[in-house]
Amino acid sequence: MTTTTTTAGPDAPADLTGPGDSTRPTGPDDDIRENPAAHRVLTGDRPTGPLHLGHYFGSLRNRVRLQRLGVEMFLVIPDYQVITDRDVADRLAEHTENLVLDYLATGIDPDRATVFTHSSVPALNQLLLPFLSLVSVAELHRNPTVKDEIAHSSQASVNGLMLTYPVHQAADILFCKADLVPVGKDQLPHLEVARTVARRFDERYPRPDGTPVFPRPRALLSDAPLLLGTDGGKMSKSRGNSIPLAADEDTTARLVKGAKTDTERRITYDPAGRPEVSNLVLLAALCQDRAPETVAEEIGDGGSAALKRTVTEAVNEHLRPIRARRAELATDRGHLRAVLRAGSERANGIADATLAEVREVMGSL
Ligand code: ATP
Ligand code: MG
Repeated sequence: MTTTTTTAGPDAPADLTGPGDSTRPTGPDDDIRENPAAHRVLTGDRPTGPLHLGHYFGSLRNRVRLQRLGVEMFLVIPDYQVITDRDVADRLAEHTENLVLDYLATGIDPDRATVFTHSSVPALNQLLLPFLSLVSVAELHRNPTVKDEIAHSSQASVNGLMLTYPVHQAADILFCKADLVPVGKDQLPHLEVARTVARRFDERYPRPDGTPVFPRPRALLSDAPLLLGTDGGKMSKSRGNSIPLAADEDTTARLVKGAKTDTERRITYDPAGRPEVSNLVLLAALCQDRAPETVAEEIGDGGSAALKRTVTEAVNEHLRPIRARRAELATDRGHLRAVLRAGSERANGIADATLAEVREVMGSL
């Protein structure tokens, strides 16, 4: 269990991690608050299924917080990355629209954020070619997140896109020169790849005036960098262990009821010793904006049943306005597509400009 003990109010600072070591916290986000226009955020979610509480507390809330501070936001829906661990992208259009719906329902403002799919921005994908030359095959094989995803994949063999997708992700981040990436803990190794690619590119193709082409992006970890699913593993869209944001209240109750706990009656908050119970305690605490220790103490000897009742109520209450807004937005699918079209147009303009810079420093004609 890797969650921290702090709770997140709507104005709580993003937890920054700094250059050189993407796991090292650098303190409060004063610089972002003081100078939001100097920063750019890139994040995204694969269109593989409905977003869940892990996304919400691990990343989405941080995104909305940053947007409210006035930081420019890019949201990529990496449709090409769906086929890293499966043969075909099942129900791609539906999943993509539903992601846009989740974004808008949780507070992403399409007038301020650029929402686009991978496949609609050719120049972004072209950056992958020079970037791939900057990393070794051994480095790709060593990436712990890729190893984990390979272990969970049902594919008979590992395809090339799976092995190289952290470099693709570097292209996602660097095409728009994002310097901030709100992610869950599983993505930290990928951030390291993006930083390495940026550094090596600038070393290999120095500009005459010494200014770098790319920023060195930083990870922004939230208060729930690794929310566990109902089976005790990382909550994931494709592992059948998630509580979707869009689930109805009864489904939420059923899913929470099925969550793994332990046999000890007294509820405590002990992430290292009791990961599953502590994960549920944290979930209630995040929803109620309280300290997990307080939530655990209140439940006391109530056991798993009381804990699960508390979690169900807390989740349903917290998500009620988001779910209502989602239902409203879902009646206009045309609007969702228009958001994507506008985002794609803007992302293409930026990707074309970055690719032109890359071609210039590489000496292409
Ligand atoms: P899939 O099973 O298809 O890989 P996923 O649930 O792992 O889906 P991703 O689209 O891979 O979701 O991840 C999108 C973002 O959400 C990433 O920044 C990731 O770190 C974050 N995230 C995903 N799952 C969790 C989780 N359980 N806790 C915290 N953050 C998470
Ligand atoms: Mg994943």
